[in-house]
Amino acid sequence: MAGEVEGLRIVLLGAPGSGKGTQALRLGARLGVPAISTGEMLRAAVTAGTDLGHRVGSVMAAGALVDDALMADVVSHRLEQADARRGFLLDGYPRTISQAGTLEEMLDEQARSLDAVMLLSVPEEQLVARTLGRRRDDDRADVVRERLRVYHDKTEPLADYYRERGLLREIDGSQPMDHVSAALLSALGLAWVEA
Ligand code: AMP
Repeated sequence: MAGEVEGLRIVLLGAPGSGKGTQALRLGARLGVPAISTGEMLRAAVTAGTDLGHRVGSVMAAGALVDDALMADVVSHRLEQADARRGFLLDGYPRTISQAGTLEEMLDEQARSLDAVMLLSVPEEQLVARTLGRRRDDDRADVVRERLRVYHDKTEPLADYYRERGLLREIDGSQPMDHVSAALLSALGLAWVEA
């Protein structure tokens, strides 16, 4: 459509407790693109008791990853919705190298590509403290440790994957929230303006 403004397509990477969810919402609002959290989508499905919810509930409660094919379904439907066609901020997807390949294929089909991948780095002790402070169902101590293990094992390799493609921007996520938001924007060449 003539005059349509193109938004950015961004992936936000970070361990559980890195502040990724909070920053995704802030950054999405600032950039005018939807912040799409796969974790939130799955939790909503569990709460609503949908077919998807039944399939993922126990996997999530164990701190494990939902399988790649199911996630591809969830994400491709979401990215086809009107609000995501001109840009998005993905929070929690991709989480494996295989998912990263799938995302690339989905975007290829729309003749689109990612603009940037932002990695929020936070020291391990701070991650554990923050996540235990949240006290959600899937945030019990043993589950927190499992989620961190899965992150190191399956998701951390995505940093190199995207670094090699020239897309990775690493941000110090241990700073106060506003500083992190400002750092994220500045890595995208933008300034933070308080609403
Ligand atoms: P999050 O809120 O992003 O930490 O996600 C909560 C849980 O949802 C994870 O621990 C996984 O069980 C599941 N999940 C969310 N996104 C994905 C994904 N991209 N791949 C596999 N599982 C996911």
